[in-house]
Amino acid sequence: MAVSKEQVWFLRHEGHGVAIVRAANFEQATVAAAKFWGVRWGEVAAGIEVERKKPLLNNICARCGKMFQGGREILCPPCERKQREEDAEQVRIKRMIRERYKQEARMMRKGAADEEGRGAEVDA
Ligand SMILES: [Zn+2]
Repeated sequence: MAVSKEQVWFLRHEGHGVAIVRAANFEQATVAAAKFWGVRWGEVAAGIEVERKKPLLNNICARCGKMFQGGREILCPPCERKQREEDAEQVRIKRMIRERYKQEARMMRKGAADEEGRGAEVDA
């Protein structure tokens, strides 16, 4: 049996969380990660960091190390599910922070406009 050059890559991107993918090199890994996150490669490529790398083992989960019947899958079903949940959670938190920031920016703009209207009135 030929030894696969593929490795398991744990890639992190701020705003998308961690993607666990199989690939022979970093570039391929980033392509697979973008696909996992459902975004265009060009949008995330520059922000991807390698958290860690592991040799690829058939039927061994890259996350919990347990054996499972997965063929070419990297993660056992429970870990796969967990990763997707965590990923969704990361995205949810980021969205919340972004929304809040936008709201604050709106309020600040509104505040500034109000102040111009009635002359500098400062709330403590
Ligand atoms: Zn697992």
